[in-house]
Amino acid sequence: MVKRKSQETRVIHEGELANPEIGNIHTPLFGDSVFIYPNKKSKIIDKYRDLPFIYSRLGNPTVQSLEEKYASVENAESALAFSSGMSAISTTILTILKPGDRLLTVSSLYGQTLDLLQNDISKLGIKVDFMDIDRINSIEFDTKKYKAVFVESIINPTLEVTDLKKLSREAPNAIKIVDASMASPVNQNPLELGFDLVIHSATKYISGMDDVVGGLIAGSKDLIREIAAKRKALGTIMDPYTAHVLSKNIKTMYLRVNKQNNSAFFIANKLEKMGIKVNYPGLKNKYYGIAKDNLRGFGGVISFDLGVDYEKSQKFMDRLEIIKKAPTFGGVESLITLPWETSHTYITPEHRKKIGITESLLRLSVGIEDKFDIFNDLKNSLKKIK
Ligand code: PLP
Repeated sequence: MVKRKSQETRVIHEGELANPEIGNIHTPLFGDSVFIYPNKKSKIIDKYRDLPFIYSRLGNPTVQSLEEKYASVENAESALAFSSGMSAISTTILTILKPGDRLLTVSSLYGQTLDLLQNDISKLGIKVDFMDIDRINSIEFDTKKYKAVFVESIINPTLEVTDLKKLSREAPNAIKIVDASMASPVNQNPLELGFDLVIHSATKYISGMDDVVGGLIAGSKDLIREIAAKRKALGTIMDPYTAHVLSKNIKTMYLRVNKQNNSAFFIANKLEKMGIKVNYPGLKNKYYGIAKDNLRGFGGVISFDLGVDYEKSQKFMDRLEIIKKAPTFGGVESLITLPWETSHTYITPEHRKKIGITESLLRLSVGIEDKFDIFNDLKNSLKKIK
């Protein structure tokens, strides 16, 4: 029996459209919007239509090449690429849920997803129940009531961890969907933990370069086929250029994320020792056991609360020299943001405070610079605001 190759090997070689007549190693960028039709000669098939490629809103060879590579990383039957993480989320929700269905989700979701579920999806006659993560982790809900459950594996920016294994065990009938953008496929493959669909904002760790916006979903062949049909109608497919860029960027994901895991763990511990309130799945807080059970690594994002006012938080960020102020995570550059005024402005100030997003809660995305340099940058800036 052939031993299955590891994900680090598969991410390099799977999905590549090699043409022996040309001798290319990497899938070319097929930027075309349209292909010959009818085409009786093509042996390369659009997997979701079982026909040759026709039109790039339906499917495209460069996009499909990325989908196959990503599916192999998640150990999934199938995968789909989207124009953004949000289009991956909205297309999935609109496929799975119909008027009258009930969705359970967490109240501390990423702000834009929260806005989508609260203000758009609810209007379509789909009942959305929001619940605190601790209650979801303790299964304090009627598991038979819900058609689907939508969670985030590590919650942005408060860094609580969801017990995907337990949810899979306790809610076997609901369609379980997880946004695992904060964990990255390096630290977690949710389908192996019993989830039905995993979604990534590919803009984050899969790109790692802050150069494109995209989304990816992986799951069973049947579910993914249904979502592919909706993607066609909504026009939310990824463009071929983005797929071409991501197919290359994803090849360095294991190198990048393993270093980011290591540096973030170091910095989180150092900050905590300085007496700062730090949120990080690798610290021995109440989510540590769940993190150990559900994640292979603790990730590259830390959040910490300086317990100061808004002006001082700004001053702290302005005095940093290496770490840049920008509202995303997952890239090779260390970035810092104040979720109060960036990712979570979609929700009311009262709701923000309730879920722990204060005017001094900072989210740090640790890059691949030297970890001592990143930590010293933070330490020097802290001295300056005292
Ligand atoms: N999910 C999470 C956890 C995010 O942080 C973000 C964006 O910041 C998204 C989804 C949306 O992804 P995108 O910006 O690629 O649409």
